[in-house]
Amino acid sequence: MFAGIFTDSILKRAQEAGLMSVALHNIRHYAPGRHRVTDDTPYGGGGGMVMKPEPIYRAVETVLSYPPGWCFTPEDQGDDPRVAEPPPELPAGVPIILLSPQGRRFNQQIAQELAAPERIALICGRYEGVDERVRTGLVTDEISIGDYVLSGGELAAAVLVDAVTRLLPGALGCEMGASQDSFATGLLEYPQYTRPALYRGQGIPEILTSGDHARVARWRREQTLRRTWQCRPDLLAAANLSDADREYLARLEAEGGS
Ligand code: SAH
Repeated sequence: MFAGIFTDSILKRAQEAGLMSVALHNIRHYAPGRHRVTDDTPYGGGGGMVMKPEPIYRAVETVLSYPPGWCFTPEDQGDDPRVAEPPPELPAGVPIILLSPQGRRFNQQIAQELAAPERIALICGRYEGVDERVRTGLVTDEISIGDYVLSGGELAAAVLVDAVTRLLPGALGCEMGASQDSFATGLLEYPQYTRPALYRGQGIPEILTSGDHARVARWRREQTLRRTWQCRPDLLAAANLSDADREYLARLEAEGGS
């Protein structure tokens, strides 16, 4: 499921440049027995299957006892991952995050937060979700990517990895990139244009070709404010606004945004 996402474009370049690395672990490898069962029916009845706690604990504890990048491969290392018993202490300072629709809702601020730790562990659920004791005894954080239910945590994990990676210094190739993005400033980004100057009867704002950097910067700031005011007024309440920003917004309000 991750092939393509992690092997292309910015995520690929970030890994090649050594800015980050991703190791994928199959929880099934940490389930005992020939059938490597990772799920079971829910206590109390009801439909669907629930992911068992032991393989998930074992996977996380084993993986985190190795340096980043280590990955158990049955082809190279035989049938069973080398798991220390009793399980090793989990390293301090490594967030162990369960992807879950019940978690705190992911946003740019959480992406910033997760760009700081050296290493993070992401657990992807499947089926009806994971045994509650994974939540209560193993994970340190739960994150949702939005108020809808996916069939697995993989897409959510990929969203998180992508958003965090583009914040790592050097990942975008140009340092300005991420700092101007929507939400980075608590506001939406201004409109962007590129060549051609005239397309299907639509031109570009003249100011962008004026060469006057100060005026361009002011125009962009105003567009950022206007756009946020129009599309996401809820963001303005928490945004860091200057007096000039507030004056501009008051003007918009008075003009009704025309
Ligand atoms: N029965 C669960 C949903 C299970 S969905 C409930 O109602 O809460 C199966 C798995 O998909 C979850 O364990 C989780 O890892 C992942 N998932 C589903 N929706 C998600 C979302 N919005 N954000 C993050 N992960 C999600």
